[in-house]
Amino acid sequence: MGKVLIIGCGAAGSVVAKKCLQLPMFSHVHVASRTLSKCQTLKADTQDKISISQLDADDTDQVYRTIQEVKPDVVINMALPYQDLSIMKACLKAKVHYVDTANYEPKDEAKFCYKWQWDMHDEFKNAGILALLGSGFDPGVTNVFCAYAKKHYFDEIHEVDIIDCNAGDHGKAFATNFNPEINIREITQRGKYFENGQWIEIDPLSVSKDIDFPEVGLKRAYLIYHEELESLVKHLPHLKRIQFWMTFSQAYITHLDVLQNVGLTRIDPIVFKGQEIIPLEFLKALLPEPSSLAENYTGKTSIGCLISGLSKGQKKEVLIYNVCDHQESYKDVQAQAVSYTTGVPAMIGAKMILEKKWTGSGVFNIEEFDPDPFMEDLMRYGLPYKVQQR
Ligand code: NDP
Repeated sequence: MGKVLIIGCGAAGSVVAKKCLQLPMFSHVHVASRTLSKCQTLKADTQDKISISQLDADDTDQVYRTIQEVKPDVVINMALPYQDLSIMKACLKAKVHYVDTANYEPKDEAKFCYKWQWDMHDEFKNAGILALLGSGFDPGVTNVFCAYAKKHYFDEIHEVDIIDCNAGDHGKAFATNFNPEINIREITQRGKYFENGQWIEIDPLSVSKDIDFPEVGLKRAYLIYHEELESLVKHLPHLKRIQFWMTFSQAYITHLDVLQNVGLTRIDPIVFKGQEIIPLEFLKALLPEPSSLAENYTGKTSIGCLISGLSKGQKKEVLIYNVCDHQESYKDVQAQAVSYTTGVPAMIGAKMILEKKWTGSGVFNIEEFDPDPFMEDLMRYGLPYKVQQR
């Protein structure tokens, strides 16, 4: 049994709350977020089974005070990457375990990386608490797929291709499946992959190929940099190459090109009618909220890891993947599949800590733990996986 504090009441945070409520082991769920009205809507949706409060998570003292009032056993950070460090500092002060789904990124520079959070390892260790980093789908389940392959299928993993396809249709001309600001910052930055001990940079979306995604078929996927590459390079010692591929429709890319060309994706302030605004924040205000896409979303996501290496001296290839249906996600928790595939693993990560299946003091990436209990829970709680050996 355990009490959980979820910070961030957006598309994915709402999924975490609803999935926690499905499990009696979460004895109480409290959701705190910037806009109280969103928490009130979620509270009503859950027949008042959660408690809520308003919180600006950029303010460590406010987060600490909320932790003191709620007294959670674990904090799940479902706000934005900008809040990671302030929430982690509050968890340190209150000595409470921490879980997130995206690594820290400074607001004024589109440059996410683990350094800031890894640097807090000794403080978490000395405080005797655990910070679980990257417990979403990617990062998250994809890292666990790699740990599972390492444990059960390979002596040495040499190559990993993380392949991420959303073959769904939300019916809008242009929308992002998770927070628009974070999504657009991620995709418009330079691409990067790891090969033979080096990081190789490419122009944004300049490399693409057709990939035959399980259960959804052939789709054009683009090589982009994604945060789990950084931690997997650290934790898979024999790795020679790792790349991340994500699909985008031509319509999405055309819209993005136009938005970039007219300056609407800029993150530096401009003055408009005497007031400073950040164009990307303004664009976010115009775009649909990711949670609003859920009801009419059709189709599936197909995300997995294509892994090759050596087993008993023989070359081997294994594909581990999950396919998630937008409408099935809606039936379960009134969410679309991208929020669902993020929220379910965040709930499972917190569950692993509360059940003491994952223990330790310090800051850890999800692939550092035993993948087996997490994989069992993926099967149980809505994200079944399949393994193809080739
Ligand atoms: P949303 O924009 O729907 O939700 C973000 C929520 O955080 C909003 O409710 C927002 O409040 C709240 N928030 C933002 N700033 C603050 C703050 N200072 N204090 C308190 N609350 C705040 O985004 P998503 O739910 O789509 O994404 C949530 C997180 O999940 C992001 O970090 C994203 O990067 C991550 N993610 C991870 C994935 C994975 O597979 N690992 C995949 C998809 C997302 P408000 O309502 O006021 O805006």
